[in-house]
Amino acid sequence: VAPADSLVHALRAAAAKAPERTFLAYFDARLSYREVDELSDSIAARLAARGLERGDRVAVLLQNSPHFVLAVLGAWKAGATVVPVNPMYKSAEVGHVLRDSEAAALICSDRAWEAYLRQTAADSPVRIVLTGCELDFQTRDDPRVLAFERLPAAPDAEDLVAVARQGGRVPEGRDPGPGDIALISYTSGTSGTPKGATNTHGNIMYTVERQRTGLPLPEGPVYFALAPLFHITGMVCQFGACLNSAGTLVLAYRFEPGVVLEAFAEHRPVFTVGPATAFMALGAHPGAGPEHFSSFVHLASGGAPLPPALVEGFRARFGAYIRNGYGLTECTAPCASVPSGLEAPVDPVSGTLAVGLPGPDTLVRIVDESGADVPFGEQGEIVVRGPQVIPGYWRRPDATAETFPGGELRTGDIGFMDPQGWLYVVDRKKDMINASGFKVWPREVEDVLYAHPAVREAAVVGIPDGYRGETVKAYISLRPGAAADPDELAVYCKERLAAYKYPRQVEILPELPKTSSGKILRRELRSGGDGKRQN
Ligand code: ATP
Repeated sequence: VAPADSLVHALRAAAAKAPERTFLAYFDARLSYREVDELSDSIAARLAARGLERGDRVAVLLQNSPHFVLAVLGAWKAGATVVPVNPMYKSAEVGHVLRDSEAAALICSDRAWEAYLRQTAADSPVRIVLTGCELDFQTRDDPRVLAFERLPAAPDAEDLVAVARQGGRVPEGRDPGPGDIALISYTSGTSGTPKGATNTHGNIMYTVERQRTGLPLPEGPVYFALAPLFHITGMVCQFGACLNSAGTLVLAYRFEPGVVLEAFAEHRPVFTVGPATAFMALGAHPGAGPEHFSSFVHLASGGAPLPPALVEGFRARFGAYIRNGYGLTECTAPCASVPSGLEAPVDPVSGTLAVGLPGPDTLVRIVDESGADVPFGEQGEIVVRGPQVIPGYWRRPDATAETFPGGELRTGDIGFMDPQGWLYVVDRKKDMINASGFKVWPREVEDVLYAHPAVREAAVVGIPDGYRGETVKAYISLRPGAAADPDELAVYCKERLAAYKYPRQVEILPELPKTSSGKILRRELRSGGDGKRQN
């Protein structure tokens, strides 16, 4: 069978071949491939009838629910570009995304619409609004996801589920091609104002095909959506890859460790991917045991650094090996990963865990300031060329020229490669700490902290220092029930790191600030964040 050239075609193929197979499992609700195909057809028909044109943008602001999947597929079938929006964004952030992408339509939960989106969208180009109730654990007792209790229909919005059930045919000529923009994914802004990365259908199909052909998963694999679907990792490596393999996608609204473990036990998934912080939270849950992880053929971590101590702790306690993977929104999720059957080596000098081997047709180079290749083992900026690298940023020719010179992605990450081709990520270029002229990479210090038994999360930043220019400060959160003294933690690091690297200040917070894709926000800590605000 020829690979599909978009996920729309993959859906039609799966619906033709295995119509009654469960595509979405959401608490007690199940939707088959046939149902998802029909319901998304009807959403597409309605969007087109409301005047949505090919290439228009549809913003989708939903949690991991069937509504998200129906909205995205419906928009693609109407020929639109999807703009996934982080549901944790505050009004001003959503406003920026709606205006910057010039979104014509918005699909969101009825609660968010009532709470703040109506006001936010008023000052934007949005003219079509579909809302639905994707809530929540009440669904446990509900046999049909589409029959949730919901708010009374908003007078200025159409009901997503009612529209989906109306029936309707997608107008001709709407099918996306490989060069069309499937997504405008706004980067989380850990490095400045969010920019829209334009992932094409071709970019996505490369990644999902690579996952389908590269992993030894059974026929009709069960995927669990651990990463949020609005983020590129969740969108492509979970939703996209699962659909492309005609698998079952288990959704659980949002990350709740106890609920996730229960779903692992019930559905026995073979694949999931999430940030390291999700694995930390699962491992810290009192109910977690080896039985929760025994079904996985491939357990992947991506999107953020993976401390070697976490990998070893998981293996020792649960008998499960977490596979690292490295990628950016700009290269449509992973460009290097740890293949099945292999284990990532740890660099003996720095203690860093390799992120993986570059995928097929992917050229990863390490370059110096002038853009010339550096020898194996030497540090430089990671640059990537391959079929998953996006054409550029949405309406940002300057940023595109700067980040994609000659079509190659300059990642802004510092790394090195060993002679076997394993890639190591040292840290983000801009996160380097300059302590009296010595370079300190936060990651290396964090890896040491993660090996301490009391530490749950660690983030290291440079703070201004009158004598050294910058000095190293560590923020820590503790495992449940653990106690630790900041001075003792500083001494622990001092015994294991060069004198200029160890944190001279250690502060313990109840929790570290994170993006909803699980990345710890060093930026927020540098600016004196209290650990409460979330992105
Ligand atoms: P912004 O680009 O605005 O900062 P962001 O960080 O959320 O937003 P993403 O595309 O989600 O953007 O993240 C990509 C970055 O995540 C990479 O550049 C790298 O710094 C980091 N990263 C991803 N995977 C790994 C990994 N396995 N190990 C270390 N770092 C990783």
